[in-house]
Amino acid sequence: MNDNDINWQDFAIETQAIRAGQQRTHEDEHSIPIFMTSSYVFKNAEEAALRFTGKQAGNIYSRFTNPTVRVFQERLALMEGGESCLAFSSGMAAIMAVGMSLLKAGDHVVCSRGVFGNTMLVFQNYFGKFGVNTDFVSLIDLVEWEAAIKPNTRLLFLETPSNPLIEIADIEKIAEIAHRHNCLLVVDNCFCTPVLQKPLLLGADVVVHSATKYIDGQGRCVGGAIVASNELIEKQFYPYLRSGGATMSAFNAWIFLSGLETLAIRMQAHCESALALAIWLEQQDGITKVHYPGLPSHAQHDLAKRQQSHFGGVISFEVKGGKEQAWQLIDAARLLSITANLGDVKSTITHPATTTHGRLTPEVRAASGITDGLVRVSVGLENIVDIKQDLMRGFV
Ligand SMILES: *Cc1c(COP(=O)(O)O)cnc(C)c1O
Repeated sequence: MNDNDINWQDFAIETQAIRAGQQRTHEDEHSIPIFMTSSYVFKNAEEAALRFTGKQAGNIYSRFTNPTVRVFQERLALMEGGESCLAFSSGMAAIMAVGMSLLKAGDHVVCSRGVFGNTMLVFQNYFGKFGVNTDFVSLIDLVEWEAAIKPNTRLLFLETPSNPLIEIADIEKIAEIAHRHNCLLVVDNCFCTPVLQKPLLLGADVVVHSATKYIDGQGRCVGGAIVASNELIEKQFYPYLRSGGATMSAFNAWIFLSGLETLAIRMQAHCESALALAIWLEQQDGITKVHYPGLPSHAQHDLAKRQQSHFGGVISFEVKGGKEQAWQLIDAARLLSITANLGDVKSTITHPATTTHGRLTPEVRAASGITDGLVRVSVGLENIVDIKQDLMRGFV
């Protein structure tokens, strides 16, 4: 049997994640090789010319063609239910590529307020510098989304679930709004991964990823990706990557490929532990509010149930005593790592108001609902009893 003849679209996501995209070489290897080569050799001058002009498919130079990176791209495209994927050196490089490829001076972007801090800065400070203006709206308010659209709006950008309040956007409805106004909808699918949510099947046009988080899953490499239609990838994103050069290395692609292989079972375990922890946290005295879409108390619980296959691995909650109490809880932890990273097998704990969102003014922070007592936990794969005990050390 030759893997190359199989149509991987017919298979479940767990199978695609392990099998799809591999083209065995003459060495008959079982695992995927890491092609550490910057360039490739052509049989003759004519073949070189055909490759460079795109008249013949094949490898040219590893800034934009590499066999290991290609397997990662083909796998992630299939898993997202998209036509095509391009890998980048980081999640931010992928987001940068979306703007550089699709926007020009005079264009306008509408973006949800709860996006990753650097995403906000890229739109505001860098695209802003070149005459692209961005307005920020509430992730969950459809009226605000539509009202923010202007004749020159080209892109709607959102992240769902949001960080750190874990709010859920209605992707299908926002895609409808985008298309009614001839705009493209871009969704950052980093928190859910395609295992929990497939934005392209809900109407989004572009999915961006930070592969650094759950796709790696073990905190080793920085990487990113864009998944979209063949047309967008070929005409917009690929020419930008080829010239812009924010390439994923073959070594990192190989790490991310092994991450993809276990993604489905890891996500299942992250979600089960996070749900159990959220239910338990809601019963603790010193905690006034738990933000987790798996709880019936969450404002978008029903939407999350419809849109996602499970509720995700990140929880945030508010402690009674504000910043002092939050810091005490964090400092009492012996197991949980104090770091803003997420999606790792190791549980992490962070205080958004003084770290990831510390650069915002107190007024903007308050308007975003990020209180001084808010603590965020990315629930890892340690035993849930040990995670609870570690948090209990800090309860007073
Ligand atoms: C981390 C993160 C990014 C940026 O990804 P990098 O790989 O760190 O560049 C973008 N979006 C979200 C939601 C993230 O969590």
